Amino acid sequence: NADAAMYHAKSSGRNNYKFYTADLNARAREILAVESQLRFALERSEFVLHYQPQVEFATGHIVGAEALIRWNHPSLGLLGPGRFIQVAEERGFIVKLGSWVIREACRQLAEWRAAGLPEISLAMNLSALQFRQEDLALTLERALSANGLQGHMIDIEVTESVVMEDAEATIQTLDAIKTMGLQLSIDDFGTGYSSLSYLKRFKADKLKIDRSFVRDIPADPDDSAIARAIINMAKNLNMRVVAEGVETVEQWRFLAAEGCDQVQGYLLSKPVPAEDFVLLLKEGHLLPDLGAGRR
Ligand code: C2E
Ligand code: MG
Ligand code: MG
Ligand code: MG
Repeated sequence: NADAAMYHAKSSGRNNYKFYTADLNARAREILAVESQLRFALERSEFVLHYQPQVEFATGHIVGAEALIRWNHPSLGLLGPGRFIQVAEERGFIVKLGSWVIREACRQLAEWRAAGLPEISLAMNLSALQFRQEDLALTLERALSANGLQGHMIDIEVTESVVMEDAEATIQTLDAIKTMGLQLSIDDFGTGYSSLSYLKRFKADKLKIDRSFVRDIPADPDDSAIARAIINMAKNLNMRVVAEGVETVEQWRFLAAEGCDQVQGYLLSKPVPAEDFVLLLKEGHLLPDLGAGRR
């Protein structure tokens, strides 16, 4: 994304030693500034979760939501994760921030359930660094029990690199997550490197087709073939498959026809604050206006 590209651009002046050093200094200063603001932000409760519905293609029912972090910055306004997650990861702050995400997401889900809203599962993104902490499973267990939730109500999204890691803490945590009955989803599937045997070994429940493969379907034959292959593979391995970043009726039609299970994307809804998500949840379903796609 744009912010990641910015960081890469800043360290790419390798042909000129002086520029490179200056860039490194600027980058280090920027990281220090963001880092100190991040710590402050957590104390000041400046983080907030937004929620994007996950919808069954077949019925249009909202069956889940993905919690996505935002930073309500006092002077810069609402910042997306692209502006701060990388720095949080580089400085190890993601562990503390990630624990907050786990607690807040569980608190919110319990509140919705207590209010009698339709039952959904809540997905949250955890970073590889969190998995290397020995106490991640305990953090999850505590958040579940403190809020009276059961494992199956929570869906943990990780990238391919996490399931491929052979660090002992990561393997144990992935096992513990399955033992507790939590769902495991592989995020951004197809953009990383993973082997099918690892996916089987950790019994992922879901594959999320990365939005880069969704963008140019159905016009691009290669991307269409990749999306189709991921859907078929997931089915054969008994996994559910979710399409990310669906923005057009044409994409929706293609994926629905190929048997994709769930859809998440701006076509149906952007990630929204909790109070707006409640309104969607009360409706219970979201379907695209299929008329809009006719020519
Ligand atoms: P992700 O987990 O792959 O989340 C999906 C991203 O795609 C979200 O961006 C979402 O807003 C965006 N998106 C959804 N539908 C569409 C669409 O139709 N079109 C377009 N263009 N974009 C769409 P967001 O919220 O900016 O998050 C970016 C990434 O930041 C996430 O990617 C995830 O990797 C990371 N992230 C977000 N929240 C957390 C968190 O609490 N913890 C950690 N560790 N990472 C997080
Ligand atoms: Mg995700
Ligand atoms: Mg993704
Ligand atoms: Mg991502």
